[in-house]
Amino acid sequence: MNTRIRSHSAGSLPASPAPSASPVLSAPPASRAPLSNRRSFLKTSALAATAFGLFARERLFAQALPLPPAPPPPARPVPDPNAAGFVPLRRGAGVFNGRGGTIGWFVSEDALAVIDTQFPDTAAACLAGLPGRDGRRLDVVINTHHHGDHTAGNPVFKPVAKTIVAHENVPALQRAAAARARPPSLDRQVYADTLFAGAWRAALGAETVSARHHGPAHTGGDIIVVLENANVVHMGDLVFNRLYPVIDRPGGAGIRGWISVLETALKTYPPDAIYIFGHANPAFGVTGARDDLAPMRDYLSALLAHVEKRIAAGASREEICALENLPGFRDWHQPAPNRLQGNLGVAYDELTAAG
Ligand SMILES: [Zn+2]
Repeated sequence: MNTRIRSHSAGSLPASPAPSASPVLSAPPASRAPLSNRRSFLKTSALAATAFGLFARERLFAQALPLPPAPPPPARPVPDPNAAGFVPLRRGAGVFNGRGGTIGWFVSEDALAVIDTQFPDTAAACLAGLPGRDGRRLDVVINTHHHGDHTAGNPVFKPVAKTIVAHENVPALQRAAAARARPPSLDRQVYADTLFAGAWRAALGAETVSARHHGPAHTGGDIIVVLENANVVHMGDLVFNRLYPVIDRPGGAGIRGWISVLETALKTYPPDAIYIFGHANPAFGVTGARDDLAPMRDYLSALLAHVEKRIAAGASREEICALENLPGFRDWHQPAPNRLQGNLGVAYDELTAAG
């Protein structure tokens, strides 16, 4: 299923990533600039007082006079995880916000990795601007699940990637979704070539990347990906952060299973990791903490409980689905489209399914 939804409020991609977005290619400190440049810069800058202090210090040192205290280094601005383009998180890991499921990336001197690939145009922008890539091949591209807004960029990455990794259910689900699409998109699919059932792990130079499938949830092939040293966890679409999610029942989803997977994740993954979410309410964002997994679980539980109660009261599927907001989750319908009606239908179908 091609969900084609935005993951953030910052709208379109810049034509080319701004140099300042790079976490690796940051400008050298002013103190490393040639002295003549430094002098002319400092003469006209707000740091002129500091410059006087520096030069005065050099001249006066021999006279052993008291020195003014060194000024503190300027504070680094905290990057906004919802900003368009590349946003560094920590230790070589970051996110790329284009269109569709949030891309995670990892760059070091000896390894490159990308988690999810969005669409061909945003994948091309991601590849072109990947900070510190310098023309190197990617060691690994990982698909968190089969949806088009996470895999349609695979053809862009495939020629420069050593392998594409996914859960073993993903190629068949991806093929079936492409065949169902109108128009069909089978000719535009590139499938993962490294598949696993339960868990997968690989060295990325000094970093280690691992992935685990905890059972059917958002689809039948979701995985959680961890950059272990960076302590960054990519949840794929297992978390729509405070946003009514896509529940892809034809693609193997199950609400009960999803609740169980999130319960496991809450117990299994580190409390101090940075978590990346496939999609988000812009007020909350595509990155967060482990605590942000609980609202998703609580929503799915409330959804099932609400529909179960309505069925018991004799309401029809149509009547049950005619609801704008679930009590307690009022702001989860933004941005459009409101997926609650679809979620209610999936809950009805799951609760009334034979067996
Ligand atoms: Zn998805």
